[in-house]
Amino acid sequence: MTRTPDSQRSRDEIVLAARNIAKSYGNIHALKGVNFDVHYGSVTTLFGENGAGKSTLMKVLSGIVRPTSGEIILDGAPVTFSSAADATSQGISIIHQELSLAPNMNVRDNIFMGREIRTAKGVDFAEEERQTRILMEELEEDIDPLTPVEDLRLGQQQIVEIARALSVNSRILIMDEPTSALSASEVEVLFKVIADLKSRGVSIVYISHHLEEALQITDHAVVLRDGTMTAFGERKDIDLEWIVRNMVGDNFDLGSPPTGYEFGDIKLSLRDLCVEDASGTGRLAVDHLSLDVRAGEIVCIYGLMGAGRTEMLECIAGRSRSVGGQILLNGEDVSHLSIAQRIEAGLVLVPEDRQRDGLVQTMTVGRNLSLASIPTFTRRIFTSRKAERGIVEGAIDDVHIKTDGGGAAIGSLSGGNQQKVVIGKMLATHPGVMLLDEPSRGIDIGAKAEVFKLLGERAGRGLAVIYSTSEVGECFSVAHRIIVMARGQIVAEFDPSVSKEEIMAASGEAVAA
Ligand code: ATP
Repeated sequence: MTRTPDSQRSRDEIVLAARNIAKSYGNIHALKGVNFDVHYGSVTTLFGENGAGKSTLMKVLSGIVRPTSGEIILDGAPVTFSSAADATSQGISIIHQELSLAPNMNVRDNIFMGREIRTAKGVDFAEEERQTRILMEELEEDIDPLTPVEDLRLGQQQIVEIARALSVNSRILIMDEPTSALSASEVEVLFKVIADLKSRGVSIVYISHHLEEALQITDHAVVLRDGTMTAFGERKDIDLEWIVRNMVGDNFDLGSPPTGYEFGDIKLSLRDLCVEDASGTGRLAVDHLSLDVRAGEIVCIYGLMGAGRTEMLECIAGRSRSVGGQILLNGEDVSHLSIAQRIEAGLVLVPEDRQRDGLVQTMTVGRNLSLASIPTFTRRIFTSRKAERGIVEGAIDDVHIKTDGGGAAIGSLSGGNQQKVVIGKMLATHPGVMLLDEPSRGIDIGAKAEVFKLLGERAGRGLAVIYSTSEVGECFSVAHRIIVMARGQIVAEFDPSVSKEEIMAASGEAVAA
């Protein structure tokens, strides 16, 4: 069919629509008859709890998954996509929630994988490199096209994923949690890019659990719940309260830090801790940092990307070596212990990158949950299946994982539910100190409240917690003490009566200084 010339198109025009789309995986009805419209040159945001069906709907619209029933309408006419490549050729592309890059290949080759630029002499690597450089400039990211993706930090990998989608020149671009690993300044750049794409007539479908952030760019909002659409509205008619109410019901509260008890002894003590950054230049990512956390205390560490939070937590957990200072657990230096020994001693980390560090994709949900607790149900070569089952069932219940049961494949879980597995697995070891590095990445507001409640309960029983976040609002619902980090150092410390603005100013001022 002939398309209307762009100059005559209006933002009311529907370019892509899902009509009564259903998708089942065995007994799981991921989508139960969803209607969904994508408007020309606009951003439509899809909100919903973990497992609501958001990613599945996007996979249907981008040709990755065939719907069980229903219709997709593109430019007013029904279409069926035989594959993702087929949808891409018709102008629809997707940035996945879980990164889909080849880690051992460089940035250029990842961007052009499967659609290399060819001349008579073969692949034109120079042209591919030139185009990659332009994309990186557009995204204001200083990344060399020949850098292997595995050498990039998570946020930069996400930028590469975004660049790959942009390079296809799609007219409908689906972004599934594109900002979850980006720093505040990277998010700002992405939002500029989105505004520019809109002005060029590109339609964007956006999924995020960062509700306030999504509201900044959205034109239309749709809420999915349990595989059905429960609400939709235009930006002018909706606000944060509307989203939360439609996602999880009335009177929702993220909770507040646990009270009614005294903190115990110091569980974890960092003394002048120094950690080098990964650049190999000897620069300190953590610079003579000292911090005590007591039994029962929840300390939130707020900071921008690059503040040194991840480096500090990974070093405490034994994933990297310190170059100075001490890490004391219950007064004993644990710097020489391996990761496993530290877990056994009661010191655990929920890492930032769940795909790479937190989960074994070839194992079931149950095996992933019990993995860190193996010593507790194994005596020499004997494994107590009953004890293991108890751990798995307890963890599924504790963190409310939406799954068919412990035997399900980890890949069958929604992104947020995978994150809950990582948290459940670490809590199942009954740690004395728990470190969480941006744990709310990808988890919905209801799940976040559950995780906060769980941490509060465990803190009441003596757990010491360090919770790292770049979502400042989270601090007020979980922290007894808020610490701001910048350039490897603690630059401010507050109690929860502080305002959001004061916390942000402390981190911003320190960065700009
Ligand atoms: P999140 O916010 O956590 O990413 P979501 O809204 O994107 O969640 P989906 O990933 O679409 O949720 O999942 C919807 C439901 O379909 C979930 O119950 C999930 O377990 C199930 N599901 C998704 N993919 C598969 C699969 N390949 N096999 C079996 N079940 C699946």
